[in-house]
Amino acid sequence: MKYFNFFSKTISLLLFLLLISCQTTKKFTKDQIPAMKVDITYLASDELEGRLIGSKGEKLASEYISKRYKKLGLSGINNSDSYLQTFDVKPKVNPHSMVKDTSTIIGHNVVGFLNNKAKKTVIIGAHYNHLGYSEMGGSLFAGKEKQIHNGADDNTSGIAAMLAIAERVKAKKLKTYNYLFLAFSGEEEGLWGSNYFTKNPTVDFKNVAFMINMDMVGRLDEEKRIAIHGTGTTPVWDSVIDEIKVPEFKIKKHESGVGPSDHTSFYLQNLPVLHFFTGQHENYHKPSDDTELINYGRT
Ligand SMILES: [Zn+2]
Repeated sequence: MKYFNFFSKTISLLLFLLLISCQTTKKFTKDQIPAMKVDITYLASDELEGRLIGSKGEKLASEYISKRYKKLGLSGINNSDSYLQTFDVKPKVNPHSMVKDTSTIIGHNVVGFLNNKAKKTVIIGAHYNHLGYSEMGGSLFAGKEKQIHNGADDNTSGIAAMLAIAERVKAKKLKTYNYLFLAFSGEEEGLWGSNYFTKNPTVDFKNVAFMINMDMVGRLDEEKRIAIHGTGTTPVWDSVIDEIKVPEFKIKKHESGVGPSDHTSFYLQNLPVLHFFTGQHENYHKPSDDTELINYGRT
């Protein structure tokens, strides 16, 4: 607890960065707004066909995120050149899904580490996979024809925010912590990637301070409402969140650390977690969750 209080300034600053990344404001540098647009435009393009776990689109997305990590100067797994953590799953087949065989599905988490030689590490994560053509289910689209679910908000928005934060953490020389950036796969099918990571972590969880998840942060509404889930997972979050000086945002706190996204996997390993979320919308899990609907904010 002492540790938390001592570093609450850093945490507040980090949370401030997380908040403003939900809507790129003038507080972000000129280069970052286009960078976030480029990330989202590519990852949510038809070329990647909705980034279904195990698909060519997932592979292309993981390669893109790896390149971004490399440019940011993050180190790979065990100090190697590779950022990819491969995992396999043998899913229980949903009788209503289009997938009839029970063959193993191979997925990849993309793991980048910023080593500041600090004692403790902060994990910032977001899932990059989405529903593809809904081959494995999950679509809320009522139409019959096969359509690409681009998942711009769900969750290229979280990936773009995570990459922008990585850049800012480096530029601002926030060295109180090490930072582990995690792009998960298999989230839509049941938090597969984050579950695998928490069972096979690349850092010692004894030295992890907390985990922050960004899932669907691209559709900030006019009233600038942001939900933060997990505020009850350590007694410190309340005061730290109240300290963030971004009055234009209407923050709604939710205590539970268990929810339908990857922070749950970390909370179940007894880590304090937060999940940032700009809210539900009519395009959720539909082919219409597209790039042009992302709220990039003022430029
Ligand atoms: Zn999601």
